[in-house]
Amino acid sequence: MSGRLAVVGLGPGDARWLTPEAQAALAAADALFGYAPYLARAPLRDGQRRHPSDNREEGSRAREALETAAAGASVALVSGGDPGVFAMAAAVCEQIEQGPPAWRALDMGIVPGITAMLAVAARVGAPLGHDFCALSLSDNLKPWPVIERRLDAAAQAGFVIALYNPISQGRPWQLAAAFERLRRYLPATTPVVFGRAVGRPDETISVTTLATADPADADMATLLIVGSAETRLVPRLHHAPLVYTPRAAGSATT
Ligand code: SAH
Repeated sequence: MSGRLAVVGLGPGDARWLTPEAQAALAAADALFGYAPYLARAPLRDGQRRHPSDNREEGSRAREALETAAAGASVALVSGGDPGVFAMAAAVCEQIEQGPPAWRALDMGIVPGITAMLAVAARVGAPLGHDFCALSLSDNLKPWPVIERRLDAAAQAGFVIALYNPISQGRPWQLAAAFERLRRYLPATTPVVFGRAVGRPDETISVTTLATADPADADMATLLIVGSAETRLVPRLHHAPLVYTPRAAGSATT
């Protein structure tokens, strides 16, 4: 028996953002693994087994999915958004690197998805229209001083910054500290986008400035986009302002 593992991105939530390739990978699987709320979003067909797990158990979830595939099953391991962005694809690679040689012979593929920052950006305009970077604010897997250094460097280098994992019950102060850090380098008027649960029924999008950004407005389901000094707002009639970063920076012209 030859098993297979597909690491599948479900997109941020809206079913229309699930790619046809992801749908096919889910339909083809005998066994589905993933964080319980994400797994609940995958349509289930007869004969499929679901193996929901807790948020924190990424390593053991990846191992179980690999073991099940190595035993001959067709397995889908699901991630919200894109599996390669702060998610399961890297956890699977870690396990393959550390695991038995047989796992390196497995048929394993990554199915990309729309990552949260792209969905949030699309809601407000084009804040990622020029150079940007993405940072996870979680200090579960890296020390806080590393995060501070990266925030400083990104702001000083003029990148727009997408912030994943801005806050959680176990990490209540980090976002306020990040804003403090960024205020050292960026104008008070720098646009900040809060995109919460984008693509889900409880979606909220708000645009504020770095001076007034309130960490209390973010939760675990929020993605933030902090503009660069070039990012601007275009007021519109009857519509929310556009937030965008022009394609040209410095002295370059279009
Ligand atoms: N692989 C995911 C990211 C996982 S990290 C992706 O590519 O989107 C989890 C973080 O992603 C959350 O804390 C939040 O910052 C962001 N996120 C995931 N889904 C989101 C959504 N629907 N709306 C806004 N942010 C989201």
